[in-house]
Order: sequence, then structure tokens, then C-alpha cells
Amino acid sequence: MKRFAVVMVLLGMFVGPTKAQEKEEKKLLAICSTTQVADFARQVVGDRWDVQCVLAAGQDPHVYEVKPGDARLVAQAAICLENGWHLEGNEWMKTLAKDAGKPIVSCVTGLKPLELVEDGETIDDPHAWFSPKNAAVYVNNIARGVSQIDPEHTDEYKARADFYVQQLRTLHVWIQKEVNTVPKTQRKLITSHDAFNYFCSEYGFTSSAPAGWSTGDEVGGGITAERRQQSIKSIRDFGIKAIFVETSTNPEMIRQIAADAGVKIGGELYADSMGAPGTAGESYIGMMRENVLKITRALSAK
Ligand SMILES: [Zn+2]
Repeated sequence: MKRFAVVMVLLGMFVGPTKAQEKEEKKLLAICSTTQVADFARQVVGDRWDVQCVLAAGQDPHVYEVKPGDARLVAQAAICLENGWHLEGNEWMKTLAKDAGKPIVSCVTGLKPLELVEDGETIDDPHAWFSPKNAAVYVNNIARGVSQIDPEHTDEYKARADFYVQQLRTLHVWIQKEVNTVPKTQRKLITSHDAFNYFCSEYGFTSSAPAGWSTGDEVGGGITAERRQQSIKSIRDFGIKAIFVETSTNPEMIRQIAADAGVKIGGELYADSMGAPGTAGESYIGMMRENVLKITRALSAK
């Protein structure tokens, strides 16, 4: 028996991978709920981790229904990363993490929410990433979360996070400059659903969204005839030049309102999802840049 064990150990030495090789091949895995969170995570972990996203580009986090494959993916995760504040409808990401016994980081942790009132109920607006200053908080929360799982590389995660936060500052300065080309009286943003309040509050716009804060039916989402009439009236009253559709929600309602109010569609904005790989909006910085160019060009048109 003893001799057999020795043979096995020797065999192991020759045919099995060494400890160092194993470590190199098996990367830690972070599972993210939204495409924005996944982009931030990749900026922080570089090639040291695998980062995978539950939502594909263009999918809507408010109404997403979890699939069996999602649970299998989360079962392999070292950490789960979500947006938080109920962006993930019915807390689907928290539920996935809890069922698998995995740690989860809500990226909005530490931010001060803007509040929305919908049908008499006050909720924390979950679309906080639309301010690059808030995005920096997301990034630092992710860096802290992954450092807890892999403390050995804390300095590396912090260095990447700091580098990316510098890019977010540059983005903020650029947005401010672009937005200044739109006269203050024309800074009115009408989009399908209430995704842009943080952007509007940061850059001096007022916003209005006929479908409310969520795209789903579960928390007062969806359009009512009253909201539709309000939207058409405010477009006319304010002399708004263009309104916008979103990549992750059905454009039909906005198209009808634009037709009824006699304004044009200013373009398609990235809202709750970034663009597909290969598009200009495939990264957070790319989606913000494209949105800002569309908004400023359409609203400052003569
Ligand atoms: Zn949304």
C-alpha cells in the first residue's frame, strides 16, 4: 500500500500540472449583472480574472428573467457584481448570488441616490452610472470587492482603478464642454424611461420620461394615457427640438409621441445597456461619448 502511494506521488509529479501552472490556468471569475458593471470590472481586474456578464448587449435589466445557465455560471464565480437599487428587477442578481452562496458587491454602495416618485411611492433611482463621478464610485467599490477575494494583488487593482478614474475625470470635463454648446433653455431631455436623471442633474438638463423609472410592469412602469399627453404637452410648451429612443427599450412609444408632437427623433441613446462588441458604444466611455454627441447635436440644432 505504501509503495503504491509512493508510485502515485511520483506519477503525479510527471504527468500532473505543478501548483504554479494550476494557478496560472485557473483564473478567478467575476459574474456581473449589467454590461456597464462588466466593463468597470474588466478595467479593474485586467487579465487576472475572467469577467462574464449575465445580460447581453441590448438586454433590459428591469425585466430580465434568470435562465438555468445563469445559475451554473454563478456557481463558478468568486464574486458577483451588480448595480443595485433594484435596477435588477425583483433582485435577480442578489438572488442568484444568495442561492449559490457567493459574495456580492452592489456598485452603488456609498452613493447618494436621486429619488423618484412613482404612484406615490418614493424609490432610489438606480441609473447612477450616468454621472461619470458616480461611475468612479462603482469602480472603487469593485476594486475593494475583488481585493477582498484576492488581497495579494490589491495594489494592482487599485492602480488600474486609479488609472480608469482619471479617464472618467477626462470624460466628465469633455461632457461639460460639449454640453455648454447647448443653450440652457434647450437642455431638455425626453427619453423612453427615466434612465438619465443623474446625467441631467450633473449637466444642467431637465428630464422627462413617459414610461417612468422602470421599463417593466412590476413597479409602476409602462406608459399611461396621461403621461403620454403630459409628454406631448411639455414638448410643445418648451419648444423641444428632438426626443430620443433607447437601445434597450422598445422605440415605438417614443416614435408615436414624436409624431404626435411634431418633433424629430434625435437618435438612439445607450441607456441600461452598452452597445454590442464592435460598436461605438461597446464600452462605458464609448456609450457616454456617443450619447453626448447625439444629445448635444440634436438639441442645439438651429
Ligand atoms: Zn432603466
